[in-house]
Amino acid sequence: NTNEMTIIFDSRPANEALARVAVASFCTQLNPTLEEVSDLKTAVSEAVTNCIIHAYKGEIHKILVECRLKGHELMVDVKDHGVGIPDVKKAMEPLFTTKPDKDRSGMGFTFMEAFMDEISVESEVGKGTTVHMKK
Ligand code: ATP
Ligand code: MG
Repeated sequence: NTNEMTIIFDSRPANEALARVAVASFCTQLNPTLEEVSDLKTAVSEAVTNCIIHAYKGEIHKILVECRLKGHELMVDVKDHGVGIPDVKKAMEPLFTTKPDKDRSGMGFTFMEAFMDEISVESEVGKGTTVHMKK
């Protein structure tokens, strides 16, 4: 059995909670543990925050969150059409951040990797970024 959901929303900080709750709500059909839901919410938050802060630099554009359920596997894609990432491998290293001035610690991708079973990032400079996650 499969099930799909896509939400598209403005890159406003207030919508980070919306994305997190929508994905958590979608995944309840898998009967997840509280810990699994909490991990998923953290990962979605980090990915969406990155779109808001880095991809769109505070400008308001669209963010897409696509969820796909296939058997007991949940796939979540977080997608933006922002600035893109020039070196994905480097960006995913713990403590790497291009905004050390703000209160960024460069741990977003590290948390996503820790809290999800799989993560991969597709990005093109000037086109945007998609973060694929599995749990
Ligand atoms: P933290 O997540 O700890 O607040 P951070 O956002 O800088 O800090 P990561 O989430 O690990 O750390 O991201 C690392 C770097 O990858 C960012 O500093 C940014 O340069 C780049 N990046 C991440 N997501 C995107 C995105 N969607 N679009 C463009 N650049 C991104
Ligand atoms: Mg981040």
